[in-house]
Amino acid sequence: MQFEVTILGSNGAVAAYERYPSSQALHYNGQTFLIDCGEGTQFRMNKFGIRPGRLDHIFISHLHGDHYFGLAGLLTTFNLNWRQQPLHVYAPRGLEEIIKLQFTYADTKLKFDLHFHPIDTAAHAVIYEDEHLTVETIPLVHRIPTAGFLFREKKLLRKIIAEKMAEYQIPYAQIPLIRQGSDFVTSDGNVIPNSELTTDPTPARSYAYCSDTLYTESILDIIQHVDLLYHETTFSQLHEARATETFHTTTTQAATLALKAGVKKLLIGHFSARYEDLNALLAECRSIFPNTYLAEEGATFIVGEAISEIAVHP
Ligand SMILES: [Zn+2]
Ligand SMILES: [Zn+2]
Repeated sequence: MQFEVTILGSNGAVAAYERYPSSQALHYNGQTFLIDCGEGTQFRMNKFGIRPGRLDHIFISHLHGDHYFGLAGLLTTFNLNWRQQPLHVYAPRGLEEIIKLQFTYADTKLKFDLHFHPIDTAAHAVIYEDEHLTVETIPLVHRIPTAGFLFREKKLLRKIIAEKMAEYQIPYAQIPLIRQGSDFVTSDGNVIPNSELTTDPTPARSYAYCSDTLYTESILDIIQHVDLLYHETTFSQLHEARATETFHTTTTQAATLALKAGVKKLLIGHFSARYEDLNALLAECRSIFPNTYLAEEGATFIVGEAISEIAVHP
């Protein structure tokens, strides 16, 4: 099942060196989830081939402009393109008021249903769920209410051993139950244990998005062992005092957190405009947590694979 994330914007507050403010498109099984929507997100979606028709859910971490100033533009374009399918926006309280005010003064009437779901940024809670996936909030520590998002695949079903199906002549109708762990009873009453019929499922995968935040170990339990952790590294370790003052994180801090949480891979972003060359930031992280990558715009990372970066710069 497809589970990957494309970086649309990787910079912090000020766009610089062709780097845009925060936005990512997470693809799962044919659906796209947008995470943050900084200024210019719609242009980045076009450039990197993100299809709007697959996007029904947008998650906004907090109400600093570099995380949502692209939303009114994106919604307006959807409207002008005759979008009809409903759209859901999950964000801290206040965003609905801001967006609706813009549309009121523009006399814009949307042709599609726009549903706002206010999130409690102080709580760790499931805010979205479908057949395959849940999204949980990650309470972060920032100047204003902020939540990260944890996309967690639901437990996958056990794998059927094909030869056993033939051997015991198991009807197709029984397969869903067996994949869930049931034993099989033959017509003459013999019980065939599930362990003889199936193998363990592929482990469920997870992606955590943490931006913006001070270094905090309060999230360790939530992000523990995730396959891919995106954590902001607005500043180099040299500028730790500035990071603390502005409620942001340094490279060294993010890498330390990744190590303590036992995550498999770390992706860093939300870079300050003061850094043109990001390789020094990457090296600082790798000295603590070697499996670190830059969230380069246009790159797609597969969640749960060791070698996972696919370049999709068109
Ligand atoms: Zn920011
Ligand atoms: Zn912020």
